[in-house]
Amino acid sequence: MAIATVNPATGETLKTYEPLTDEALEDKLARAATAWASYRRTSAEQRAGWLRGAADVLDADADTVAELMTTEMGKTLASAKAEVAKCAKALRWYAEHGPAMLEPERKDAEAVKANEAYVVYQPIGVVLAIMPWNFPLWQAMRFAAPALMAGNVGLLKHASNVPQTALYLEEIFRKAGFPEDVFQTLLIGSGTIERVLRDDRVAAATLTGSAPAGQSVASIAGDALKPTVLELGGSDPFIVMPSAHLDKAAEVAVTARNQNNGQSCIAAKRFFVHRDVAEEFTRLFAEKIAALTVGDPMDPDTQVGPLATESGRDDVERYVQDAVDKGATVLVGGTRVDRPGWFYAPTLLTGITPEMDLYFEEVFGPVAALFTVDSLDEAIEIANSHPYGLGANLWSEDEDERTQFIRDIASGLAFVNGMVTSYPELPFGGVKQSGYGRELTELGMREFMNAKTVWIG
Ligand code: NDP
Repeated sequence: MAIATVNPATGETLKTYEPLTDEALEDKLARAATAWASYRRTSAEQRAGWLRGAADVLDADADTVAELMTTEMGKTLASAKAEVAKCAKALRWYAEHGPAMLEPERKDAEAVKANEAYVVYQPIGVVLAIMPWNFPLWQAMRFAAPALMAGNVGLLKHASNVPQTALYLEEIFRKAGFPEDVFQTLLIGSGTIERVLRDDRVAAATLTGSAPAGQSVASIAGDALKPTVLELGGSDPFIVMPSAHLDKAAEVAVTARNQNNGQSCIAAKRFFVHRDVAEEFTRLFAEKIAALTVGDPMDPDTQVGPLATESGRDDVERYVQDAVDKGATVLVGGTRVDRPGWFYAPTLLTGITPEMDLYFEEVFGPVAALFTVDSLDEAIEIANSHPYGLGANLWSEDEDERTQFIRDIASGLAFVNGMVTSYPELPFGGVKQSGYGRELTELGMREFMNAKTVWIG
């Protein structure tokens, strides 16, 4: 895949980049190692100050970087601005709470026959971050903020279709006054990742993206005995029970499925509706999907823009066609939008069966699959039969149903009466083929830290 900015709203190639030469890559690896040797000795308060500086840079550049993201991957300008603000918030959150998370943890010295016993959290070195295009700033920032707060150094291999946002990410930290080379962007294709990952100067890796990319990175890292965090796909269930506030649930369902033009790992993708309310919920859901404004992502009235890549649009089209060929019913959408660029109409399908490809896979586009179920047991059983287990939604006013959902749903995130989303204040990650490890909070920061036991006699 070429490293290039191609506007998905028009299909026009705007800028192409040559990948780094071997020599340039070697130079960047050497710089990262040199940077870490001194950065690891900086104080938590110093690093918190630089993080605050990075948040200020983002605030100042918000409009420009939002436009850049919209141009590179097609998200609506409004959602791009919200993404910039979320990144600034995460930087400030880690600046505020990070120093306390890095304090030594006192243990019971007497019990281990010591004068002093404690755990000290230390950075582990240069961490390679392989990131996707769907939230081009946020995905990278939710790695960078805790990693830099911890005293690690970052190397970013971003998706090939967002090179300008990738370069801007490096610029943020430079402009914020961080020491030189603590965060560098590598313009490389995925074929060069193995070389970087196996390099002795690289200590660990994190990847957000598809399961095949995760498998590849995990097996190389396993062979090299380096820790990884993987945040892979999701096909989140959204369960609606009879006690739910149906109009509110339908409204959130539309956003949960169509946010980011349908391209979010934590988008609700499978909707399980209890038979008692299925007719009413389906009507509300279909009406609201049909009312979405699809168009130019720069236009403030647009709610759904194009898919990020042509191949992404082809994949979505193929999933829908396969389902229709095997008997699914299209209630809304089901076609491309007749205009330049990679638009696909927000779509609602019913009559989904396990023979259809989309049943066990992830549709990365604005396509909702609706199932009618007779009980919460049935909804959870079908939901859990999927290989992914990232987020999950329940809409219910019934305390017992909530308890059952939280206990039995196989996911890393369980949200009741609200949309699954990520917050710096809450851990984020999945189970099963959605990956392992956690991002955000102190858990995210400690994934790439040495919890060193100290015993002093
Ligand atoms: P990919 O997994 O291909 O891309 C994500 C990142 O991984 C990019 O930086 C990519 O680089 C890199 N990459 C690709 N192949 C490999 C590999 N074999 N080894 C190491 N790194 C690799 O995602 P796509 O953009 O192709 O999207 C395909 C599917 O991935 C989607 O349908 C969706 O299911 C899932 N996805 C999930 C996301 C999430 O948020 N969890 C985000 C994006 C996608 P390059 O761009 O150079 O190929």
